[in-house]
Amino acid sequence: MIDSLAGATEKIRHLAGAKAPRGAFLTVTLSTSPLDDWRQSAPTFLNSEYTRIGRELDLPKDQRHVLQSELEEIGAVLQYDLTESTQGLALFLDGEGGIYQRIDLPFRLINRMVLEPSPYVRPVAHALSLLEPFIVARVSRDDSSLYLVDEWGGIARSDDLRGPWLRTSDRETGELSIKEYFAAARHDTLVDQHYKEVATTLAKWLEGSAVRRVVVCAQHDIASNFRRTLPSAVAPKVVAEIPFDAADSVNQMVGAARTSVNEARRRELTQLMAHINEGLGSNGRGAAGFDQVMAGLERGQLQTLLVDRNYRPPGWRCPACDWAGLEPVEECPFCGGKPVPIADAVGELVRLAILQSTVVEVAEGIPALEAAGGVAAQLRFV
Ligand SMILES: [Zn+2]
Repeated sequence: MIDSLAGATEKIRHLAGAKAPRGAFLTVTLSTSPLDDWRQSAPTFLNSEYTRIGRELDLPKDQRHVLQSELEEIGAVLQYDLTESTQGLALFLDGEGGIYQRIDLPFRLINRMVLEPSPYVRPVAHALSLLEPFIVARVSRDDSSLYLVDEWGGIARSDDLRGPWLRTSDRETGELSIKEYFAAARHDTLVDQHYKEVATTLAKWLEGSAVRRVVVCAQHDIASNFRRTLPSAVAPKVVAEIPFDAADSVNQMVGAARTSVNEARRRELTQLMAHINEGLGSNGRGAAGFDQVMAGLERGQLQTLLVDRNYRPPGWRCPACDWAGLEPVEECPFCGGKPVPIADAVGELVRLAILQSTVVEVAEGIPALEAAGGVAAQLRFV
């Protein structure tokens, strides 16, 4: 069964702090989409990764056996315990036999296998950070609709709102109906009344909901007039306008709205990065680059962690505490333990941030973030 966004987020939070009795967690993420021919590709991938990990980590015989039996468990899930709606599967095993945790997602994950001291939560955390519910308000002068698009992209709720201005029913003859005559006379007031009604309903939908962004789909002059009627709590949530096209299907409109929401998100993260850069230096609230972010984590000071999606440098971590670094060191600078190599050191920052209930934002193609070293953070005052 597909996890809810809240459910998957909770699992990730728990996994971030999970400890394996034998010191190693196996994390496997797989695409189980028919597009990837996964019934063929997944078992092949698992076998070749088993060989690679056994060789690279130089595993002793008993640990190879544990890994082998874990792969059998995974094989059984793939064969007998998967619904068609699962397109991406994340499995976490702690070496004690059986699946420790699983997360089923309705979109693909990249095939990956990692055997490290902690669960590798970054791929799922990334995927979840990009999901967000939003509202589309399709507005016209007398006939408008609201759509709530949930985090998985489906329309979870919709509402049609008809205005008091009724159009002529005599389109064929072209005669002006009585209704239209009166309607035209009171047109502006009634249109305004309709906008207010839509705005009130929109405000109700937003109250106590997780939705942070609204897209207005309308002709430009209508959108401008409608936005003037929005309550002050609602107005800043409107992040974009898209043109109304009567020929578009609802799905096409929602698709265009999603593109606008993603652009708005990108603008917001670019702004966040600018704030971080302004706050660099002692006593500031900005941290840029791996070492500054690590230092912020050590002080429990991170408010928002911003990572570049494609930045996954290998590095080191201490299995005994919360230290991670990009360069090898003899001793952990925090506790004197012996660091071990990890495939993705920024993934370890993401795990530590989740452990501290920090918001994790994932960005791509933000030049200032790349210049900052692919990872940055907004800090709390201490
Ligand atoms: Zn340590």
